[in-house]
Amino acid sequence: MAFTSHMAAALAEARAAADRGEVPVGAVLVDPHGRVVAAAGNRTRELSDPTAHAEILAIRDACAAAGSERLPGHRLWVTLEPCPMCAAAISAARIATLYYAASDPRMGGVAHGARVFDHPQCHHRPQVYDGIDAAPARALLQSFFGTRR
Ligand SMILES: [Zn+2]
Repeated sequence: MAFTSHMAAALAEARAAADRGEVPVGAVLVDPHGRVVAAAGNRTRELSDPTAHAEILAIRDACAAAGSERLPGHRLWVTLEPCPMCAAAISAARIATLYYAASDPRMGGVAHGARVFDHPQCHHRPQVYDGIDAAPARALLQSFFGTRR
């Protein structure tokens, strides 16, 4: 199958999140056939829910649609390095591949901090590709926080 990047769609979700006053992070989940099965942006403020990160919302939607708590063969596109909570959910959902854009030295849990997938207790480690479209993802975050702080 030809490689198709879904980071542009994830960035569109991040932009929509910023427009709602949420931290601009977006995620897109793609099934083994290359179909987009879920797309989401952060909604922690809107839902008064600290777990309403883009990745969690996309995984919930896709699992509900699939009628399964696991998403084998699925690929997740995220505009920011997932935090430890989302990394744990990605592992639990058995997602095959994680693509993320900007790295997050402060809150990230993949290449920084908890490094969830590197723990021996982590039973499923997705393939990880970072740095895809990192510049626009970072610019979006910087302009969001620049206008708020
Ligand atoms: Zn998260």
